Amino acid sequence: MTCPNCGHDVLRAPFCVRCGEPLENRDSPYPIEGRGYAAAPGEHRFAPRVVSSLFPHLPRAGMDTFRLLLGLGIALIASLALAGLFPVALIVAAVLVPLLVLFYFVEVDLYEDEPLRVLVLTAVWGSASGVGVGFLADAVRSGNATLVSQTTGHAVLWQGILIPLIGLALVLAGPVALLPYRKFNDVLDGVTFGAASAVTFAGAELLTHSSTFLAAGLQPAGLVTPWTLRLLTLGFAVPILAAASVGSATGALWLRYRAPQADRGKLALLGHPLFAVVLAAVLLVSGALVQLYLGRWAALAALVGLDVLALLWLRQLIHLGLLEEAAEIEVGPPRRCPNCGRETPWHSFCAYCGVSLRALPKSGRPHQRHGRARLLAGFSAGLAILVAIAVGVMAAVEPAPARSPCTAGQACTNPPRVPASGAPGRRAHANERTWKSSLGVQLRYDAARWRVASSNDRRLELTHTNDLLALVVDAASSSGTTAEQLLADKVDSLRGRYPDLEVDSGNQPASAAIGSVQGLGEAFSGHDIDGRPVEALIEAASAGGVSVVVATWVTQQAHTSRNGIATPFDALVSADALLETFRWPFELSTPASRIGR
Ligand SMILES: [Zn+2]
Ligand SMILES: [Zn+2]
Repeated sequence: MTCPNCGHDVLRAPFCVRCGEPLENRDSPYPIEGRGYAAAPGEHRFAPRVVSSLFPHLPRAGMDTFRLLLGLGIALIASLALAGLFPVALIVAAVLVPLLVLFYFVEVDLYEDEPLRVLVLTAVWGSASGVGVGFLADAVRSGNATLVSQTTGHAVLWQGILIPLIGLALVLAGPVALLPYRKFNDVLDGVTFGAASAVTFAGAELLTHSSTFLAAGLQPAGLVTPWTLRLLTLGFAVPILAAASVGSATGALWLRYRAPQADRGKLALLGHPLFAVVLAAVLLVSGALVQLYLGRWAALAALVGLDVLALLWLRQLIHLGLLEEAAEIEVGPPRRCPNCGRETPWHSFCAYCGVSLRALPKSGRPHQRHGRARLLAGFSAGLAILVAIAVGVMAAVEPAPARSPCTAGQACTNPPRVPASGAPGRRAHANERTWKSSLGVQLRYDAARWRVASSNDRRLELTHTNDLLALVVDAASSSGTTAEQLLADKVDSLRGRYPDLEVDSGNQPASAAIGSVQGLGEAFSGHDIDGRPVEALIEAASAGGVSVVVATWVTQQAHTSRNGIATPFDALVSADALLETFRWPFELSTPASRIGR
C-alpha cells in the first residue's frame, strides 16, 4: 500500500516502516490516538515521562526495569533520610542518576567499539569538572555565608547564576568534542552524551560542595522532613533537570550539524543551537534560584515543574530527530524487533510497534531474559560499593564527639562573664556605640568587634567581625504574649533560613538571662542550604512592660571546650558578654537620666 505520509509503497502493517506513520490504527497495539513518541510509541509525545526521555535507546522491557531502579533509588534516599542518616542519603542522592546512566550505556552498547573515548568525554569529564566547580563554589563563598541569608546579592550572583552558567559551559565542552566523529551521528547520541556529562557533573559537584557536611559524622542533628525534601530535590529533581536541559542542548547541536542537509529547514527553533543553549541556561539558573529563594516544599515543587518543561522539550527534540533521521535506503530483510519481538522489514521504524529502530540498543539484541534480575543485582551492588566506600571515608574522618564539662544531671555553671565594657561610671570607649529603642531598652556594643547588619527602633542585627557569630535583638511591648510564645515565634522565623533547626538536647543552657533579667533560653542545631552546621541559642525575657528576644547563632562545629566553659560552641561567649551590657527601662531611671530630661 502507499503511505499517506511519505508516499512510499510499503508493507500493509500497523506502521509505515519508512516514516513510522500509523497506517491501520485498528491494528495498533497501543491505545493512543495517532502518532506516539518515536522512541516509545506506546507513550504520548507530550507526556513528561522520565525514563523514555532520558534513556530512549532502551526497548520497552528495559524501560520498565530502569523505572523500577529509579523508583527503588528514590525510595532508598527517602528511607535513609527518614532514618536520620542524612549524609548517607546525600551520597545515594549524588550517585543514583549517574550510576543509572552508566548502566544504560552498557545496556544499550551506546559507545559501540569506542568505550574509552565516550566515557572520558562524558562521565569522566563531567565528574572532573563537577569536582572543580564544587571547589570553585567553596572558594567564592563569602566567609559569613552560613550566618547571613542565602539570598544576599553575593550568594545569588554566584550560587544562583554564575556557578550554573560556568557548569553548563563545562558540561557542554565534553560532548561537543564528540561532535566531529561520524560514528556518533544520531541525535540520540548527542542527547545521551549531554545527559551523561550533566548528571555526573551534578553528582560530583554535590559531593565536593558537601564535604564539610559529610565530614561531620554519620547522623547529624536536624529535623527529618526538611532534609528528606532537600535530598529528594538533590537526588531526583536536580539531576533530571540537568540531564533534560543539557541533553536537549547537545541534541540540538547534533540535529543542526548531524541531520541530513536537506531537512535542516524543518527543524526551526528546536534545532537551533544558540536558542537551545540559552534555554538550557535559563532552566538551570531558574533551578538554582528556586532553591535559594523558596522553602523546601515549594522548591521541590518548582523544580519538578521545571523538570516537566525540560522533559517535554527533550521529547519533542528526540521525536523530531528520529523522524528526520528516517533513512533514504531500501527496505532490508526482516529482523526481529528488540522492542516488540516480532519480525519486521528492516528500515527506520518497526512495522508492528512503530518504534524508531534507531531508538533501540545499538547491537540490536533484544532485552535479555533475566535481564531485569541481572540489572537489579548489578545496580544494587554498584550502589552498595559506592556507599560503602563513602561511609568508610566518612567514619575515618569523623571528629570525636564534643564533651561537655558538665556531668549529666548536675547543674552547670554559666559561661564566665567577661566584664562588660562601659560599666557604670566608666568613660565610653571610642568604638563604643549604644543602640536605643523608644521602648526604653538599650544595648552597648563595641563597633570594632560587632558590625551592624541592620538597626531600627525595635530591632538590632549584629555580626561579629570574626564571622563566626550573628546576633539579633528584637524588642516589643509585652501585651499578653508569654516568653514561651516569643521563643517559639523566633524559632519559626529562624527556620525560614535553617529549615532543619531542631532542639539540641545535648547542649541546653543551664540558665538564660538578658542583662540582669532572667528568662528562658533554648539551644538548637541545624544546617544551611549547603549542609554547613549552625548552632542557635534563643533567649527571651520580659520586664517593665517590654519583651526582648535575642537569637544568636554560630557556625562553629561542636568541639570539646578547652577553657572550661559549659558549651562546645565557645563563640557564644562573645554573645554572653554583649548581653551583659543590656539595660532595661527600670535600670535606666537613674537620677542622672532624670536630670538629663
Ligand atoms: Zn510512510
Ligand atoms: Zn517492533
